[in-house]
Amino acid sequence: MSQSDNNIMCERVFVLRSDGVICEPQPQGLRVLPGSPKYNEWCRKLGQWLVMALDADGKYHNRQFILDTLPDGYVLYEHARPNATLQDGSKKRTTHDVYLHGWSSNPAQKFRSPAEFFLHLVWLVSGAMPGSCGCRLCFGIYPDKVVEDPLQAREPSASLAIALDEVKIEDGVKIEEGNSHSPYSFSKGHALPMHRGSTKEQMLDSKPKGKFLYRPGELVWFNKNVSTWGLAVISSRQSKDGRALYLIQPLSHPLHHPSAEVRDQDFLRPWLAWSVPTLGNQSLQNAKYDQVPWEQIIAHYPTDPVVDGSILSAAAIDASYSLFEQDKTALSNTGEKFYKGLYLGAEKIWVLEPVRLRGPGEGIYVLVIKKIIEVPNATFGAEVVLRGDVYTLTRIPARIQDRDIPRRMEDDLDFRNRVERTAEDSLWNDWRIVEPNAKKFLGDIKGRWYETEHLLPVLQGREAFNESIHNKVVGDCGMWMNARGDLKVSDIKQKDRRSTLGRAVPDNFRIHLGLDDSQPFHFPDTM
Ligand SMILES: [Zn+2]
Repeated sequence: MSQSDNNIMCERVFVLRSDGVICEPQPQGLRVLPGSPKYNEWCRKLGQWLVMALDADGKYHNRQFILDTLPDGYVLYEHARPNATLQDGSKKRTTHDVYLHGWSSNPAQKFRSPAEFFLHLVWLVSGAMPGSCGCRLCFGIYPDKVVEDPLQAREPSASLAIALDEVKIEDGVKIEEGNSHSPYSFSKGHALPMHRGSTKEQMLDSKPKGKFLYRPGELVWFNKNVSTWGLAVISSRQSKDGRALYLIQPLSHPLHHPSAEVRDQDFLRPWLAWSVPTLGNQSLQNAKYDQVPWEQIIAHYPTDPVVDGSILSAAAIDASYSLFEQDKTALSNTGEKFYKGLYLGAEKIWVLEPVRLRGPGEGIYVLVIKKIIEVPNATFGAEVVLRGDVYTLTRIPARIQDRDIPRRMEDDLDFRNRVERTAEDSLWNDWRIVEPNAKKFLGDIKGRWYETEHLLPVLQGREAFNESIHNKVVGDCGMWMNARGDLKVSDIKQKDRRSTLGRAVPDNFRIHLGLDDSQPFHFPDTM
């Protein structure tokens, strides 16, 4: 960044409501004064995020913002972490952490980053309804925080979009851009290439109430018989007479492969729906599929080797990823590569769709992926960065209009609000943005996001699901599923999905794109 880029014209954002209180005793460390670079850095991020989060119709797009001041009563303190002595006897340099106090009079209850405070700030300007803030402090510690409004008593805003009127914007302040290396900082003039055009398959998978829960190449559980489930990978899918059918290949050890089979969607489950069973042959418990000397042990195998082969191969698939459909026209000069999707563990994930995200507390978080980028990395060769907006499911006084979330998420909200009859108490379920333009890594992803109405009856059982619905309780698929990485899997890059599956499927196994049912039914008649 050249020297002339360091001065950015920012428009001032005034937050008119506050719940800030004075700390007693005073927080430790040095007060960070208004106007100082660190103070400005917090205000820059918060101001920019706030406008981006509330600007539903894009009116403030491509402009730079800064909070005029932190909300009344909130103060920043810089805390120096004590010097640590390194093994070679040298002193490590001191680290300075900046904390935001004012949420409570207890100085220990503080926000540790602008991102952490941001959620609370959005709650403040959008009505400050008691019990509806999902920030780390309100959510976990003091869920019924009530705000005395010392500045202006006001009704909860009619919608978050209108909440922009609750912050005042003035132009013409020039600030020094801090040399922040925070992953949340906004890069100037670095326009990320847009993905042009979606494939038919991607469009099919992005439709609300889509025909297919599962995608070609995905690892799934399949019903072998009345009481036994096995592991398989999806080769292709077809819809016939309104039913979703899948051609699946059961996984196995490399010396024998069961025949492919056709299964109705009702007889499949996502890999993450259930935990991994233990191996029949305990001596292979920590083995890797490719390291097992199958030829030597197969003759005297103590249990069914096909089952153990499928479990070991599923573990290998779970620990790997591969990227697909590179946008070659978007190759940047920094060596970054952009992709339309990736296989992550068991699942196939598209750009522009939501994934379940790890987050604080019990909250439900999703990342709507905008970019899948492979970034060169000196240590690992390359790493995958996911760019997008983080949302949390919350309750707010009015529905947000015209906002940029995938149609499947909108459709799911309609279902939730209909079932829970939220119109009656005027507190709607909605997806509220908590971190715009977030930078996430593969380890942050729990797995694909599924519509409640679609998958929950499968996971929970139709009868239990119907009973919950009758009681106006929707629930969430995420509560019934594991998260990828719960068992600390690694992320091993594979060339493509076929090489990920390796010898667990027959040599001639192919993954077919799952398009619509305008094509003739193409599964073999007899399997
Ligand atoms: Zn809060």
